Amino acid sequence: MEAFVRQEEENGLITFRLASWQQRDPKLSAGFSSRLGGVSRGRWDSLNCALHVEDDPEHVLVNRHRLAAAAGFDFAAWTCAEQVHGKRVAVVGTADRGRGRSSRDTAIPEADALITDEPGIMLVTFYADCVPIYYYDPVVRAAGLAHAGWRGTAQRIAGETVQAMRASYGSKPENLYAAIGPSIGPCCYEVDERVIGAMEAAGLTAGWTAQDSGRYMLNLQELNRQILIQEGILPDNIEISTRCTSCHAADFFSHRRDGPTGRMASWIGWKR
Ligand SMILES: [Zn+2]
Repeated sequence: MEAFVRQEEENGLITFRLASWQQRDPKLSAGFSSRLGGVSRGRWDSLNCALHVEDDPEHVLVNRHRLAAAAGFDFAAWTCAEQVHGKRVAVVGTADRGRGRSSRDTAIPEADALITDEPGIMLVTFYADCVPIYYYDPVVRAAGLAHAGWRGTAQRIAGETVQAMRASYGSKPENLYAAIGPSIGPCCYEVDERVIGAMEAAGLTAGWTAQDSGRYMLNLQELNRQILIQEGILPDNIEISTRCTSCHAADFFSHRRDGPTGRMASWIGWKR
């Protein structure tokens, strides 16, 4: 069953909710935005959530306000980082609440994963094909997000985030739930040998198919699933979306499909 359930929000936005986690913990809000229901135009049409892609910042802020409201948060809770396709995990506390919501200047610097155990913080990361990974520990009540393109996958950011939750909150991997959200699928993500070499160097042995062209179709969802299992998360506790951002142009931005474009947002946090 698809883990990310399409939902029309009260304010008209279309989102994809991590329904099973929200049912387990009614204060938890977790999901992935679509491109539908915003005010951006042109290549950012319409719910672009990122400030770094040359869209009108006033439009982006309207879009962010709408998504925060749909997700059940004050806009002041929106907390994000400058993503750099690296492996650094930022531990987000109350003092960080709201960083980056209105300006890149205040964003958490150079981080591709965010974790928190504080209620009232909406962690947000941005996507146009890369893989959003969600983490939830119901025992210590902590949560996180990791942004994994091929570079982040090869740097094992999925595992770095598990380790950061262990170190910061005492999370036991066997208690953790993980979910891999909408992202470019093996149907659409063709890469060259260099990328395969990076996966092998990261200790990953499967998750690609050779093509007659000498190139490969890469399965980033499977590669990140392997990393999560290697870090001790139970296979039964991992959910994987089958929604491909490149296949579904009406719902999603896709950098691979469209070139420069807008960004969707993944979010997780506890409503107050
Ligand atoms: Zn596809």
